[in-house]
Amino acid sequence: MSRIKILPEILSNKIAAGEVVERPASVVKELLENSIDAGSTRIIIDIENGGRSLIRISDNGSGMNHDDALLSIERYATSKIHNDTDLFSIRTLGFRGEALPSIASVSRFSMITRDRDSETGTHILADGGRIRNVSEAGTPIGTMIEVKQLFFNTPARRKFLKSTNTEMGHIAETISGVALGRPEIGFQLVHNGKKIKNWPLAKDPFDRVSAVFGQDIRSDLHEIELKTEDASVFGWISSPSLTRSSSQKIYLYVNGRFIRDRGLQHALFEGYRGRLMKGRFPVAVLFIQVPYEQLDVNVHPTKHEVRFTGYRKVYETLKASVFKAWDRIDHPKKRSYASEKGVPGRATKAASNFSSDLSSKKHYEEKEIPFQQRYHKASFEIIRPSEKNETISETIHEYHGTEKDKAIKPHKSEENGFKSKSFFTSINVIGQLHNTYIICESENGMVMIDQHAAHERILFEQLKKKSLRNSSPAQKLLIPETIDLGYKETAILEKLIPGLAEFGLEIEPFGGCTFAIKSAPDIISDREIKPLILEIIDKIGDIGFSEGIERTLDNCLILMACHGSIRAGQALSEREMRALMDQLELCENTQHCPHGRPIKASWPLAALEKKFKRIV
Ligand code: ADP
Ligand code: MG
Repeated sequence: MSRIKILPEILSNKIAAGEVVERPASVVKELLENSIDAGSTRIIIDIENGGRSLIRISDNGSGMNHDDALLSIERYATSKIHNDTDLFSIRTLGFRGEALPSIASVSRFSMITRDRDSETGTHILADGGRIRNVSEAGTPIGTMIEVKQLFFNTPARRKFLKSTNTEMGHIAETISGVALGRPEIGFQLVHNGKKIKNWPLAKDPFDRVSAVFGQDIRSDLHEIELKTEDASVFGWISSPSLTRSSSQKIYLYVNGRFIRDRGLQHALFEGYRGRLMKGRFPVAVLFIQVPYEQLDVNVHPTKHEVRFTGYRKVYETLKASVFKAWDRIDHPKKRSYASEKGVPGRATKAASNFSSDLSSKKHYEEKEIPFQQRYHKASFEIIRPSEKNETISETIHEYHGTEKDKAIKPHKSEENGFKSKSFFTSINVIGQLHNTYIICESENGMVMIDQHAAHERILFEQLKKKSLRNSSPAQKLLIPETIDLGYKETAILEKLIPGLAEFGLEIEPFGGCTFAIKSAPDIISDREIKPLILEIIDKIGDIGFSEGIERTLDNCLILMACHGSIRAGQALSEREMRALMDQLELCENTQHCPHGRPIKASWPLAALEKKFKRIV
């Protein structure tokens, strides 16, 4: 007897499902692709429990007649290709004839469908790939597929499903990817009976882009377009100031198919040419069109990867399209606080040097309000050391004592990260260097302070102290600002809301994925709050909540402090510099900004004297 056997169809479908159906989001992707291929203009996605209990996709596409409906859940049954030649000029999203049988083999499956030539619809019920019942059903033209209890018969797969939130995040991400590529189709997503997304068909594709990403970032997205002999590129890329910590928000479509392709992503980064900070990724929606014959989409079962004949040329076209856009994008924005004030040198350079951490937040700088005004808010709590019943001379002595003194009081030393009292109130401010560093004279030498790092530290500690005393002064926003988020972002923000409120950043759910910002901590209330909130969500999305809520909120505070503080390249008056020193004095840690960068660097007189060969 032969040992080699042809596998029964149900088993081979289950094996195929292993590749095609990784998680609920993969089912959603395949079903959406089918609805799109069927020419639908409206697709409704109903999910229960992150897709474990139910995935229901209803469309108003072509539908199927009775025979086609039965065939559609057979392996290798497709209406999309018929011969070899078709395989190499595929215009539809599907073509492998694998998705429906694979999905049906690992779920309790139901399909109701009717095409325009049939008077009644067909209803097919299948369990684990076995047809249980076929009946007639009254239904409009189109198709409704229900996938219940996904992986009920493959426990190993079921075990790998993550939390409802995570699976829902993947589903929402999948739908965003599909919806961005098909603005001409309306999409609605409902989870556990709650409408989460409703994207009506968009005449202008940019309306879809802003519906998916949120209205807030419209002004930070720039259109790009380039046609060459080899390919055409059209889409939107973000300003270098609007970046994310992963490549997840880069949506790449080749001939309408959403793909992941590191090479083409690289072409996009190349087009930014040094405008991106290391480790940051732009937001982009890019449509690339190439001749169908040059594209091989039959590379991977999930069709997320493709191959091109003229890959290099497509790469170059994409890169050139991005690069070409900069002249236009850069031009209206070529200004920074310092260059406006006519200070040449570093400040001007900073405006175009996006690799600096500060200039990457250029959009905040541009809307900078005069320091004086902001300082007034930030400094409402200056208490001079003398008011704390400490005489300056005492405290100076404590810090500027002899080496021997320091040895006796090691815990007071600057090196351990905690302040030595009155050091900062005692130093003389000499001036500002390149609008970035404050040069000071200390009793035994020269000290330079990084103004941004110092102010960040001050604000961070002020925010933290106030929250501990539970008296964060907050400014109610006269008109609450609203913010639109994606599904994942919503889940993150919802967790942060109570903690952020303690710091005076009050945010209220406004239905679905929309939130209203009610108030902001005093020190940042005159800044743009939305970019701050987006950055907080991005950061926490990155690091997760595993370190505990307190550490998580610390990270939020760090970002708040960063947004509220003065920037490098900003001219300060003598009074402002003095006030900064006085406030620094009150900090617990005067060594590092909350990100860990040093606040000050010192040069003892002896070192200077050595440099000038006064001593050897
Ligand atoms: P493929 O999409 O690769 O052809 P599928 O298994 O996904 O394979 O679908 C099989 C066939 O069923 C499709 O070729 C199509 O003819 C039909 N079909 C599937 N879903 C729909 C739908 N929503 N509307 C109309 N026809 C559909
Ligand atoms: Mg398909």
